Amino acid sequence: MSILVVGSVAFDSIETPHGAVDHCLGGAATHFSLAASYFTPVRVIAVVGEDFTEVHEGVLTKRGVDTQGIERAKGLSFHWTGSYSGNMDEAKTLGTDLNVFQTFEPKIPAAYADSKYLFLANIDPALQARVRSQMPQVRMVCGDTMNYWIADHGENLAKVLRDLDVLLINDGEVRMLAGERNLVLAAEKVLSMGPKTLVVKHGEYGATAFFSDRSFGGQTKISRPFRAPALPLAEVVDPTGAGDSFAGGFYGYLASQPELTPAVFRTAMFYGGVMGSFAVERFGTDRLQAVTREEIEERFNLFKEISHLEGA
Ligand code: AMP
Repeated sequence: MSILVVGSVAFDSIETPHGAVDHCLGGAATHFSLAASYFTPVRVIAVVGEDFTEVHEGVLTKRGVDTQGIERAKGLSFHWTGSYSGNMDEAKTLGTDLNVFQTFEPKIPAAYADSKYLFLANIDPALQARVRSQMPQVRMVCGDTMNYWIADHGENLAKVLRDLDVLLINDGEVRMLAGERNLVLAAEKVLSMGPKTLVVKHGEYGATAFFSDRSFGGQTKISRPFRAPALPLAEVVDPTGAGDSFAGGFYGYLASQPELTPAVFRTAMFYGGVMGSFAVERFGTDRLQAVTREEIEERFNLFKEISHLEGA
């Protein structure tokens, strides 16, 4: 079933120990859409500027992503500048130019109205809330955010959190949001802010889901967290978009399934890890554009293999 995603469609200037790129196509909604497109139809709501060309749009449409909800405005597209050093576990943001996103009023095309799965990718929580309020009939709402919004847009973010089925953020963001260093206590605090389930991304170490009594419609109670692995990779070229690609694989798989069960949820976390692991192998969206369904399945099996304990 179709996913509707709102989030940044951007240009990224990135420096890592493996090189640098200037203004490559990026953005949370872009990475998410490409990753999710291998599992289910995706529709995007975003705004871009005059620097966004047919070639850039083609990256999404070639993967079957519906781009009629990407508005074109006068001015420049969102531009993020960041760098990674050492083991590249954390991005250092050098610049966030919101540009056309500053005055964006999201409008949902009529053709998107029947979307059953909504993903609020990383962007101003006020925009996430506006899109959410225009889609009251969705079956599931999943969301992401980052330190930039947690730090200065807490009030708007709190409203978004209240209404989420799943919040997907990294461990640093969970601790920041909760004001608590211990991850288990921080997760409990974040769940009390609204999300029914919390998925914490640990970069190269996988991801952990924390459940509440409200997960799975309150019907199946899971008291323990679930941890999915990440694949140890010999070469990480550019971690940008790994989290969004995780979200795309995770939510794309969920939306492709008839029912949300604990087993489906756990499998989705593995597919999230698979898509995140591809994203980091090249700069920008290059790897996500070129990966095949066979490679995805092959890596999924590898994920199963590396985390399976036989005969214990
Ligand atoms: P991640 O998956 O966390 O590595 O996300 C990377 C993407 O997030 C990049 O392609 C950026 O364009 C985008 N991004 C960076 N900062 C922001 C922000 N404040 N709001 C929305 N998107 C952002």
